[in-house]
Amino acid sequence: MLFDTHAHLDFKAFEEDFEQVLERAKSSGVSLINTIGINLETSKNAIAIAEKHENIFATVGLHPCDLETFSEENFAEFERLLACKKVVAVGEIGLDYYHKNHSAELQHEIFRKYLRLAKKHNKAVVIHNRDAGEDILRILREENVTKGVMHCFSEDTKFAFDCIELGFFISFAGVVTFKNSNLYEVAKAIQLSKILVETDAPFLAPHPNRGKRNEPSFVKLTAQKIAEIKGISLEKTAETTTKNALELFGIV
Ligand SMILES: [Zn+2]
Ligand SMILES: [Zn+2]
Repeated sequence: MLFDTHAHLDFKAFEEDFEQVLERAKSSGVSLINTIGINLETSKNAIAIAEKHENIFATVGLHPCDLETFSEENFAEFERLLACKKVVAVGEIGLDYYHKNHSAELQHEIFRKYLRLAKKHNKAVVIHNRDAGEDILRILREENVTKGVMHCFSEDTKFAFDCIELGFFISFAGVVTFKNSNLYEVAKAIQLSKILVETDAPFLAPHPNRGKRNEPSFVKLTAQKIAEIKGISLEKTAETTTKNALELFGIV
């Protein structure tokens, strides 16, 4: 049983064949999916999807590239959404210095607000990081946030161990299956008990589907790659990464 811990099921890319996408996930052994919000609208969409499907859970958050939609009013609504039973985390939130749609100062300020919100409600956080690793780590430490996942991990082994020391899980997306990925080394070095898998669908399809639309069933390819890197079975990889995710997201 696999858990795709990060997909954007409400995106337009899935509009036409949504039910088939879910069917293919099931028949590939992907029994659980987190669908992720990136702003208030998509967070509400995520909840609507999760409420319709027993095996899908939702996260609510404001992506660092979407901060133009921030308002105190919206923020209060995010807090209300956390009361929904299917909401398992605050995210994705974080810092993005690659696209840098917004100043670092504004990103820090809003990131801290959402971290405090997650702490207040004892929720895990789903962290988005593009070229902002050191600042993210510093802010997580300063805010004393210890429960979360570094989604679509893209940093080096030392950084992974720093996150694990903080209490975080490391989530690998399709990038780990790409030829010459620097993530082989990271996946080999860190303990399986700290690893999650995700697709980030519809983006970043794993090899050999690179360039195509990504979907939750493809998370199996990522799990297979991790099994191969670690020299263990796919079953063991699936079982442990799913158990890790259930623990982090408090799903019983
Ligand atoms: Zn992201
Ligand atoms: Zn995402």
